[in-house]
Amino acid sequence: MLRFTHESLGQRVVFAPSDAASAVAAEVSALDASRVMLIASDREAALADPIATGLPVALRHEEVVMHVPVPVAERARAAAAEADVDVIVTVGGGSTTGLGKAVALTTGLPVVSVPTTYAGSEATDVWGLTDGETKSTGVDARVLPRSVVYDATLLTSLPADLAVASGLNALAHGVDAMWGPRADPIDAALAGEAIRGLAEGLPVVAKDGSSLDGIEHTLYGAYLAAVAFASAGSGLHHKICHVLGGMFNLPHAQTHSVVLPHVLAFNAPHAPDAERRIAAAFGTDTAVDGLAALRAAVDAPRALRDFGMPEDGIPKAVPPILAAAPANNPTPLTEENLTALLRAAWEGEHA
Ligand code: NAD
Repeated sequence: MLRFTHESLGQRVVFAPSDAASAVAAEVSALDASRVMLIASDREAALADPIATGLPVALRHEEVVMHVPVPVAERARAAAAEADVDVIVTVGGGSTTGLGKAVALTTGLPVVSVPTTYAGSEATDVWGLTDGETKSTGVDARVLPRSVVYDATLLTSLPADLAVASGLNALAHGVDAMWGPRADPIDAALAGEAIRGLAEGLPVVAKDGSSLDGIEHTLYGAYLAAVAFASAGSGLHHKICHVLGGMFNLPHAQTHSVVLPHVLAFNAPHAPDAERRIAAAFGTDTAVDGLAALRAAVDAPRALRDFGMPEDGIPKAVPPILAAAPANNPTPLTEENLTALLRAAWEGEHA
């Protein structure tokens, strides 16, 4: 029996290869906006400059910090108020999108997002802020960008290791959307197509970072994965990464790419529908085999210890993960099986 409630988020999505500048100008003008706050970090400035040329920019803001520390958000909000802007345009990765969302959260200003990684934040109504060492996230309709403009040429400059980690972070959205706390059949369908697109694009991008065809398939998959994830909510994978990232200050995308195969192997035996869909998306006999083949093809990061997690962090992370894990996770969690999962991810065993 099919019984569920699915909410689709309203957003325009524009694929505009080599044409971000005119596509963004069109989206800003459709919003009747005339004073743009353009957010891009100094590392993203070269990508943002050509887009800025066609816009009524009232303010350029460069102070972007991963996980959006509260003081950074406060300074951006004050600058937006002072410059009396009426739209926010973000050009950059998830950190830049995240700052735009933080400003939108308190001002209600519309956001036009131009992503330059595969993070997928542009497709969600989830915001994140860090106060000291505590990261909080929340859901608010005001932070969902009104428009997203994807231009594959903006991602040709992504270094290969970052492209791979970011693409695997997107894959994690798709896999976790299969069993998130609110996962429904629409999420599963979107997530399956997301995984198919990512599995097609990512190996191409890993070999040739300038392949527009590879980047476009990866962007398409990353977008669908984030849409599915926003609807399904954080599953076990994201709860684990959230706790580990916050406790040990681990890099976001790399942490996701290391942990994902362990969560898939953990849940697959008790999630036959997800297992079948993920395997079909990869075109392999089992979901675990499909992910392993993709990870081998892109030389994925393998071990949490390589990114600075201490070994005694394993027992420290167990209680908060047990407390945060969704009650409907396919495989019931215990202290023992979670410890074994974390140890395998820490050591890089079988990954
Ligand atoms: P990031 O935005 O921090 O970017 C990583 C680095 O790559 C930065 O130095 C950036 O300047 C650089 N960069 C970005 N695009 C580039 C390009 N095209 N060429 C060269 N360099 C480029 O990292 P990320 O992985 O994109 O985003 C991670 C952040 O996004 C985290 O804070 C995470 O929590 C957040 N996030 C939020 C959501 C959500 O739904 N709210 C979803 C996914 C990720």
